[in-house]
Amino acid sequence: MAKKRLYLGLLAGTMIFLSGVLIYIWLSFFQHDAGAFRYLLFITVAFILVGLAVVTAGFFGIVLSLLSEKDVVFLHKPMNYTFSLLYPVVIWLGKIFKIAQDKIQCSFVEVNNQLVRSKQGRLKPEKVLVLLPHCLQAVECSKRITTRTENCVRCGNCPVGGILNLCNHYGVYVKIATGGTIAREAVKKIQPQAIVAVACERDLTSGILDCIPLPVLGVTNDKPNGPCFNTQVDLAEVEKAILFFIAEAV
Ligand code: SF4
Repeated sequence: MAKKRLYLGLLAGTMIFLSGVLIYIWLSFFQHDAGAFRYLLFITVAFILVGLAVVTAGFFGIVLSLLSEKDVVFLHKPMNYTFSLLYPVVIWLGKIFKIAQDKIQCSFVEVNNQLVRSKQGRLKPEKVLVLLPHCLQAVECSKRITTRTENCVRCGNCPVGGILNLCNHYGVYVKIATGGTIAREAVKKIQPQAIVAVACERDLTSGILDCIPLPVLGVTNDKPNGPCFNTQVDLAEVEKAILFFIAEAV
């Protein structure tokens, strides 16, 4: 829970900040100005108020779901809005408090994963897509695995072979993407109902936000050689994420 608290704390801070902005607008302008400008302000404040009510409902949905470990179905939409609309403000607030962005992103992924895990309903393997980053491939390997995963000879020099074996075993789709555009194209083409994504905190966060409302379980890769270079991932974590979605179907 400790990791999740960072994102949740910043999310709560974001809403307090937005409420403060609203009160400031009200006290500074609305009370004093008359005429058409007053009505324009009234409409603006009303819009912000409705937006704030929606994201507040979403925030309570997220907290409720995390605490009860149950899916709060009727708050799905507000929760999705809270996630996507407030993310830039959360990052901005984090910068003000000098909190490293990757720490916030790591916390965001943790919160997202627990929310996904609180959802019910298992899927057929062919409805699940595993997205892998190209940086898992050993840099000295010459096989063109982004176009054809079958080109990988599973030599064991990088985690790709092991993950491909897992995906073949469970019958789920797998795509190795060199960037967000290729990942988005794969999602569009395969149209999965759930995704297991392996990536760094930054790419996972943007991928999760891009895919809303599609459930994405994120598995963070390790970077023992620095970012984007011969990265590693725990195969057991990838398998656990695949099994979460398909457990009752295998
Ligand atoms: S497992 Fe071997 S063949 Fe496959 S991508 Fe890694 S290094 Fe290349």
